Order: sequence, then C-alpha cells, then structure tokens
Amino acid sequence: MTGRENRAAVLTELPGPLSRKLLAEQAANESSARTYPRNVPIAIAGGSGSYLEDLDGNRFLDFLCGAGVLALGHSHPGQVAAAHRQLDVSTHLLDFPTEAKQEFTRRLLSLLPGDMGERSRVHFCGPTGADAVDAAIKLCKTYTGRGDVIAFHGGFHGSTQSTIAITGLRSSKEHLVNLLPGASFFPYSSCFRCPLALKPESCEINCAQYLANVLDDPNGGVRKPAAVILELVQGEGGVVPARLEFVQQLREITRRLDIPLVIDEVQSGCGRTGTWYSFEQYGIEPDVVVSSKAIGGGHPASVIIYNERMDGWKPGAHTGTFRGNQLAFAAGAELMRVVAEEGLLENVREVGGFLREGLLELQRRHPFLGDVRGLGLMLGVEVVPVNGWTAAQLADRLRRASLERGLLFELAGRDDVVVRFLPALNLSRAEAAEALEIFGAAVTETAKECERSPGTDSPGAASEGTKP
Ligand code: PMP
Repeated sequence: MTGRENRAAVLTELPGPLSRKLLAEQAANESSARTYPRNVPIAIAGGSGSYLEDLDGNRFLDFLCGAGVLALGHSHPGQVAAAHRQLDVSTHLLDFPTEAKQEFTRRLLSLLPGDMGERSRVHFCGPTGADAVDAAIKLCKTYTGRGDVIAFHGGFHGSTQSTIAITGLRSSKEHLVNLLPGASFFPYSSCFRCPLALKPESCEINCAQYLANVLDDPNGGVRKPAAVILELVQGEGGVVPARLEFVQQLREITRRLDIPLVIDEVQSGCGRTGTWYSFEQYGIEPDVVVSSKAIGGGHPASVIIYNERMDGWKPGAHTGTFRGNQLAFAAGAELMRVVAEEGLLENVREVGGFLREGLLELQRRHPFLGDVRGLGLMLGVEVVPVNGWTAAQLADRLRRASLERGLLFELAGRDDVVVRFLPALNLSRAEAAEALEIFGAAVTETAKECERSPGTDSPGAASEGTKP
C-alpha cells in the first residue's frame, strides 16, 4: 500500500490501465465461471485494514472483505504476526494435535454461550464452508439413520453437488442432475416478501407452522428428515434475518420430533452479527453449528461443532487431507483473542448501528431503497423498482457508482437486488461515515438519473455468475 491519506480515492477510470491488462489475461486463462472481477473490474495490489488498493493506485473501502473472510480487515498485524510465527513451525499437520490447534479449539469452545462448550465436540473439515455443510449432513444421517434434509427457500449452503441440492438458488442447479436426493424446501420467515403473502403483524408465524403441519401430517408426503438446516441471517439470499419466533418454533418442532437442527453460521458467524454466533440472539441452542470463512483468521478452515450425544462417528468416518491448516489455527485463535479481550463484538454492534441508522436515513429520502435490514455488520438494502427502472438495473448502478467513488461491495438476493455490506468487524465510525457519504452520493446520482430518463423496464443488467 502507498502511504496516502487514509481515505478512499479513485484516480483513474475503472478499470485502470494496469488492472485492465491483468483482467484481460485472467479472462484468457481462467474459466468462464469466474465471478467477482466481472462486476468489480479491478486487479488488486494489496490491502490494509478496511481498505484495499488496485494495481493502478486506486484505493477502496472494502465492504466485501473476501466475502466475509477478513473479519479483521486486510493484513491485520496480530493475525499476520501469528501466521508468520506459525510459518516457521509447520503449516499443515493433518489432524494431529498441535499447540496451535489446541489453542484454537480451546478458544472456540470457550466462546460458545453458557456451558454449551462443555457439551460440544468439534470436527475439523476440509477447508471450505461447503465441506463443513456436507460433513454436518453426513453426521446427521449417521446419527439419525435417516436420509432426507429440509432446507429453506432463499438459503445458500455452497457450490458442491450436495450443498447445491439444499441451496435455493435455482440457476446453480438448473443444468445439473443427480444432486443429493431427498432435499425439500420450506418457506423462510422473509417478512419483506412473505412467501405466504401475510403481514408480519398478523401472520402467527405461519411459515414455521406450515413446516410443523407437514411433518405432523401422515399424508404430508415428507419423511422425517435427518436434518433441518438454515442460516439465521440468509447472506447470499439477500441479507434476510430470520424472525425470532420463527427460529424458536423451528427449535421446538425439531426437538419434539428429534430432528437435528443445523445452523449454518458460515457467513453470519465469528462476530459478524454482533454476537460470536448469530444463534445466540435467538435464544436457541442448535444441535450442529457450521463455521468457516472468518474462523481461520483469513486462511482456509472450517469446523462443525455439535452436541456430544451425536458423536457416533467411527474413527476415520470423515477424513480429508486439508483439515490441519496450522496458519488458520494460529490466525483464527488471534481473531478469537481479539473478540474475547478487545471488545470486537461491541464495535460490531456500535458501528453496525451507526451504519444502519445512516442507511435508514437515506431510505427515508429515496423510496427505491425498499428495505434496510440485517444484524451487526451484516447489512443489506433491498432495492425496489422505480420510474420504469428494474430493481436489478438500479442495484447494478449503485454498485458501479459506489465503486467509482471508492466503495466496494457486492449484490445479493433474488436477481441481485440487495446491496450487501460485509465490512471488517473492526471498522471505525469514521470509516462507516465515509462509506455512508460515498453510498449516499451514489444513491443521489442514481435517483437523478431515474428522474431524468425513465427506464424501459427491460430485464436488468443482471450480474454475471453467482457468488460464494
Ligand atoms: N454457507 C453459507 C451461509 C455461505 O454464505 C457460504 C458461502 N458464501 C457457504 C455456506 C459456502 O462456503 P464456501 O464458499 O467456502 O464453500
């Protein structure tokens, strides 16, 4: 990074000439499935804290943070030092116990609420979120002797063939046959767009009740599953926090029917929502928690944490070479130390609240910002159509206009109509204010454009590719 003023600054057109060269080489060499650089056309030189710099010297506030992996931002000094120290010792040691791994495990269990840590077991999985979701399903199948899985509309659990099967995004499975069989989907408590067309004030949480009715109905057609799996804040699905009563009812139903409840905290975990795991805010204890992304302190790692009564796996029941990433254990333990000792969660709540207030203020002035929602520093703004412009066109404009002013974020949700903020958890108030200033300017510019020229309501400039 250059030592310029600590603010975003875009000095060239985007992409700048050096970025353009690398983007072209990448397009020539890599598969057509590549994703992010299509919508955010930059080549990256490096990052520090909440900022990253492209090859042309443009500096961006990074509200994508490696899709939520970089909880402490880029090159956090403590995490860098921990990984450097570990590099001299060893980097990969299968599932042998090491000091680094034990420290990681001790901290992980101690961050669970109440005495949950004492009743829990940890299994280290292959390094991705999808690997851990897959392992969680295997565990539940082994424990219950059943084979089916219940998932929810709008949910996202990965890009492997088993996790696609339980993911809502239809385009990701359209041309694939023979995915994991036995997956069924139920309505999620998505109140801005209620799947049952009800009003939150009077709905009596029919989405949860519907699931209970189907499972209790001898003619309901759905077998008792091995697992019910969901995110408590759907990330890729458009930053949709589940309603408290919905989650509590799901817990009651699954407990009554002895169905393991798997909470996918791959994106919402590790402090992102203001508690270490989001389930803490719902007053429930899951049977299985899936954790990845930020857990490895910027390095690949994933785990499942589950109630010890489910620990019926035989030795070697779930193996995989890359389950012993010592750099991830060292850097991940440092993240957990910062959470335990440096008030990171308070910062998430405080700065998250400030950012949310700023977005609500913008929403009051601009009706095409249809809904502001989220928990902590997992925030989303759902864009709605206005003046002949589709929501997808508007959201795409907002992404581009923000990037040109130095704020980098991605879109999420159905048809990519949700602006999604996943900043570093140690984001300062000043950085949050800067992001609001930039986003506000992008919103104003987009609003003016809409007024000047009504849209044709043609299909939006939909983003290319889906994002993990
Ligand atoms: N679960 C959730 C909730 C996710 O958001 C993601 C990735 N965005 C995954 C699972 C899959 O993780 P990975 O891309 O590391 O396989």
